[in-house]
Amino acid sequence: MPELPEVETVVRQLQQVLRRRTLLELEILDRKLKHLPPEDVRGCRVVRVCRLGKQIVFELSREKAAERRYLAVHLRMSGCLFWKASASQTRRRAGAQLMAFQRKTLSRLDGAKYLRAVFWFTGGSVCFADPRRFGTIRLARDIAQFEPRGLDPLSEQFSDQMLAGLLRGSKQPIKPWLLRQDRLVGIGNIYASEILFAARIDPRRAVGALGREEIRALRVATKKVLLRAILANGTTFSDFQDTAGDAGNYGRFLRVYGRESEDCRRCRLPLSRIVQQGRSTYFCDHCQR
Ligand SMILES: [Zn+2]
Repeated sequence: MPELPEVETVVRQLQQVLRRRTLLELEILDRKLKHLPPEDVRGCRVVRVCRLGKQIVFELSREKAAERRYLAVHLRMSGCLFWKASASQTRRRAGAQLMAFQRKTLSRLDGAKYLRAVFWFTGGSVCFADPRRFGTIRLARDIAQFEPRGLDPLSEQFSDQMLAGLLRGSKQPIKPWLLRQDRLVGIGNIYASEILFAARIDPRRAVGALGREEIRALRVATKKVLLRAILANGTTFSDFQDTAGDAGNYGRFLRVYGRESEDCRRCRLPLSRIVQQGRSTYFCDHCQR
């Protein structure tokens, strides 16, 4: 499942290729997305692509009016967006496009069934493929509609005091707390383990028992791990239009996730795995207190 760093990577890359392009057509292929009115975005220009929580937001403007439209894509479990430059400026049919995908990139996905929508731009298209179909596309005239409930850990508001305030009053262990999207947004199961290792905090610790120094370490580690992952994704996913963008690429920079019984990179003792709220947590029983 894509977490904040993967979504940010896709956003940065889409921003580079899409800025100032015109959206010629939004083609909906999955009836679960039929609520979208494609005529409402036809002919709009891309002002920017940004991230709001784990949503990829296309800010669009009409040629003349200052009117804005916002398309928010949430990838959920298995969604991915691919940029595909077209050889000519003419619009090609999705079927032909998909054939090329299957040959080159999506060979492990089962063709048309997984392609749910195509955004046709001048000079290329963005395809929304999503095997499990939990992903969403929403349209609004006000970006505020897509504002997530939780705080973005990469925003400037994310300070020690702010984090202390969010943690206050909770009796949960810290690991499941980090996965709550209503407090901090965008941290999933992989990065929660990585963040707690970097902060040297035991994932079983009760949130309310964390001291000031620990909260500070948690804040610093959260930023550091997420930014490092964005950098790594930016290099390993630099051809994201040719990748399905899920696991496999993570491995290179993970310190604890998926490494049960392997050596801790800090103390060389074997790492542990426990299950918290049905999800695996990886940590070092020796280094994390
Ligand atoms: Zn260790």
